[in-house]
Amino acid sequence: YAKEEGENVIRFHSKEMEEKIESLFKAENVLQKAVEKDLFIFHYQPYFDTKTGKIAGFESLVRIKDEDGKIYYPKDFIDLLEQSEYLNSFKKWALKEVSEKIKKWNIPISVNISARSFKNPSFAQEVLEHAKGLPAPMVLEITERLYMDNPEQSKQIIEELKKCKNIRISIDDFGTGYSSLSYLKDLNADVIKIDISFVRKMLEDEKTRIIVEMIITLADKFGMKTVAEGVETKEQYDMLKEMDADYIQGFYLAKPMTEEEAEKLLRR
Ligand code: C2E
Ligand code: MG
Ligand code: MG
Ligand code: MG
Repeated sequence: YAKEEGENVIRFHSKEMEEKIESLFKAENVLQKAVEKDLFIFHYQPYFDTKTGKIAGFESLVRIKDEDGKIYYPKDFIDLLEQSEYLNSFKKWALKEVSEKIKKWNIPISVNISARSFKNPSFAQEVLEHAKGLPAPMVLEITERLYMDNPEQSKQIIEELKKCKNIRISIDDFGTGYSSLSYLKDLNADVIKIDISFVRKMLEDEKTRIIVEMIITLADKFGMKTVAEGVETKEQYDMLKEMDADYIQGFYLAKPMTEEEAEKLLRR
């Protein structure tokens, strides 16, 4: 339209902006409907013990499944959800869902925690209530960015959470959040998840490989476990096994699956 209107007209929307606005509207609709009609589900992606090859636990990953079976993935709605008024009820649902599955499956399950939920003053109490008496750990995944945003406060919240013996803290997307090595020393987490971007580059780039090696070594010396995320090939798997990563997660071993598929896998 700007063309027809001549050179002096200011264009308010670029094509990109239009697309952004459209996808925001779409996300809002999808999200609102999901809340109203209870359309949130979890898929579960296992992670495996590198030494034994056995399933060590699952990570819960949210999806919206609409009435005609269409699945929406977090990239389409998670940012909006985390800023929305629905976050609190979603978090309650997530904690309940995951604690029920831990009881039923008797295996550790991770749940991704948004920054806003984590910093809510009642968060620790709420988690403690759900984690009480579980037969296996509930693992809370928080991102390194969230932690680094306010390390002192994060440390305090983690202290509080760790009063419960079956709560574990896992640092998600580790290596992407600009933390310095000295913070690794202060991280009172149980697990470090090495970000997919390192796993991707590690085979071609020697320096990346050295970083991964170093993270694994340091984590081990500090008494933390490591999970390598996004492992897609045998070559990556073999290299990480060689480097003594504790756990491996990724499409090479298993994609996120429905509850029913996870149960089938556990029965095998
Ligand atoms: P994340 O926690 O880092 O989860 C890992 C993402 O990588 C998942 O995407 C998973 O499906 C994907 N993935 C796993 N293995 C591979 C692989 O080998 N290759 C590739 N290319 N990808 C792999 P998903 O399920 O789309 O989730 C994306 C992000 O959305 C998550 O990243 C997490 O930050 C967020 N998220 C997911 N579920 C929840 C939730 O219940 N609550 C909150 N607050 N955030 C969530
Ligand atoms: Mg995660
Ligand atoms: Mg991750
Ligand atoms: Mg990641």
